[in-house]
Amino acid sequence: MVTTDWQSDLRKRGYRLTPQRQLVLEAVDTLEHATPDDILCEVRKTASGVNISTVYRTLELLEELGLVSHAHLGHGAPTYHLADRHHHLHLVCRDCSCVIEADVGIAAEFTETLRQTFGFDTDMKHFAIFGRCGSCAAEPGDATAGQGSPAES
Ligand SMILES: [Zn+2]
Ligand SMILES: [Zn+2]
Ligand SMILES: [Zn+2]
Repeated sequence: MVTTDWQSDLRKRGYRLTPQRQLVLEAVDTLEHATPDDILCEVRKTASGVNISTVYRTLELLEELGLVSHAHLGHGAPTYHLADRHHHLHLVCRDCSCVIEADVGIAAEFTETLRQTFGFDTDMKHFAIFGRCGSCAAEPGDATAGQGSPAES
């Protein structure tokens, strides 16, 4: 299971979280890829008085403290991770919306090329890469997902 490293980390930095903020952090820890709404839902199981703006403010603070980070997996709200567990790219399937986590190392050659060509330091974790997952791609002839797939026929 998950170790709560952030607790000792914060203590070392002389910082203490209020119980509400701690609940938000714990919700991020528990849920994985959680939107602020998901997090609110989880926090309310314990603290019914919390509202969405508290969640937003707390996420902002936790992000500043380097405890959480966010990623965009689609058009909606960002999703949140514990920062020390966020070392992956997100491969999102357009058809079934599943999210595959791939180690950032898999893109090392690509980001290195961008660095050499443009001097650009790429953050591959921030946005998802869209496509079709293996099992959806293997399904024959289902064109419900719309246009543009190259036909083999
Ligand atoms: Zn993720
Ligand atoms: Zn963002
Ligand atoms: Zn899929």
